[in-house]
Amino acid sequence: MAEVKMIPLAVNGGIGFGAKLTPKQLIALGTYLDDDTEVELTTFQQIIIQVPENKVEVATEELEKVGFSVYKVGPYVKSLRTCGFCQGAEEEGMPIAIELNKRIAGKSVPFTVRPAYTGCPNACGEPLINDIGVIKRKDHFELYVGGQAVGTNARTGVLLKDGLEPEELYELVDKVLEVYRNNGRKRERIAKFIDRYGFDALKKDVGVS
Ligand code: SF4
Repeated sequence: MAEVKMIPLAVNGGIGFGAKLTPKQLIALGTYLDDDTEVELTTFQQIIIQVPENKVEVATEELEKVGFSVYKVGPYVKSLRTCGFCQGAEEEGMPIAIELNKRIAGKSVPFTVRPAYTGCPNACGEPLINDIGVIKRKDHFELYVGGQAVGTNARTGVLLKDGLEPEELYELVDKVLEVYRNNGRKRERIAKFIDRYGFDALKKDVGVS
């Protein structure tokens, strides 16, 4: 009998007050896994599961019904990592984080992009050591690009623009991803791409002076 191809899926509990899951979600997750299947917890608030190829569609649908977000694994934008919004959803911009995630998560890019959002300058969600980092400061947003937590060339991201309104933030993140998608080399991280392409060239392409 032909072996069933297993497809990895990245599952996360959506954006809320911290990375929390409900028992209902855990039960739904168990439905698609054999007893001795291993699941992997990533540092990016995601659980990686392996699902038979012919069950991907139905598993995705069922997991989404209990509030999970399901993403492909590979060269895509990962779901937005967030802080715990300890000061409250509105104060810390949870709706903006949810909208940003909706717009970018799962988009195709040359190499996996890890975006992170944090509701105040305390930056608990570590936005400066991720590929794309957003910090809410009072009523506006700052966008950082090119942070990298791993490797001997680890570094913090560079401020691309501050004082952004929500719509400006969404548009600017879209533009950055578009420039990276069109000009980045296969498996070239954003940080490395910016080194090669040039931060000034990126700024020019996305319309930041
Ligand atoms: S970044 Fe700010 S709002 Fe978010 S958890 Fe930390 S202190 Fe709270």
